[in-house]
Amino acid sequence: MLRRSKRIAEIEKRKNQPEDLIKKPKLSEELIQREIEELNANIVNLENNTRRTDDRCATEKTENDVLRLRIHVSEMSTRRAKHQTSEVKITLKKTTKEAGSLKKQIGEMLGELENFKDFDEAITKAKKETSSNRQKWMEEIEKIQEKQEEKNGGPIEWKMCEICAFEYSEEEKKVPRVLNCGHTICTECAGNFIMNTFNHHNTIRCPFDRQLTQLRSGGVYGLPRNCALVNL
Ligand SMILES: [Zn+2]
Ligand SMILES: [Zn+2]
Repeated sequence: MLRRSKRIAEIEKRKNQPEDLIKKPKLSEELIQREIEELNANIVNLENNTRRTDDRCATEKTENDVLRLRIHVSEMSTRRAKHQTSEVKITLKKTTKEAGSLKKQIGEMLGELENFKDFDEAITKAKKETSSNRQKWMEEIEKIQEKQEEKNGGPIEWKMCEICAFEYSEEEKKVPRVLNCGHTICTECAGNFIMNTFNHHNTIRCPFDRQLTQLRSGGVYGLPRNCALVNL
């Protein structure tokens, strides 16, 4: 009974087998179809991912380019700053040198100023001495004049240049010359009193009253002669 039923079952199984065999490929096709769909979906996903990655790469590349450009600009700035610093250093060195030379010049000028002060003092002293000498001299001349007047029994015309004490004559250097102020001195002495300074050109300052006489053509030889003194 059991054997029989077993056999029947086997037969039944065999009967069902072709159906299974037909069913099997059907299932497989669906599976394959599903797998293909899944694969397709995966491919689409992968493609999307790839595109996204490409986009990201492109963005990063752009960012990198920008960064590289910034680095380049920064390097350029650094180089320029270095150059400027070295230029400033050179200028500073030059300025320091110039300042040193200027300091030296100022020192020299101060020294000269000190000398000038001494010179000025010397001039003032010389001027004082000159005026005191002139005073003494005039006094001496007056004494001589008085003596001569006593000798001659009355005042005489003064025929001597009161500056050099030489007698006036027709000799070129000893001709008496009248200045604008009315004072008379010899031609040679007149020549010694010519001033050629910034303010006065070809001008005689009278040794008696310091009045000015402007010389014309001929210089001291162009001054009027004091004929009265020569013809006596
Ligand atoms: Zn004279
Ligand atoms: Zn005078």
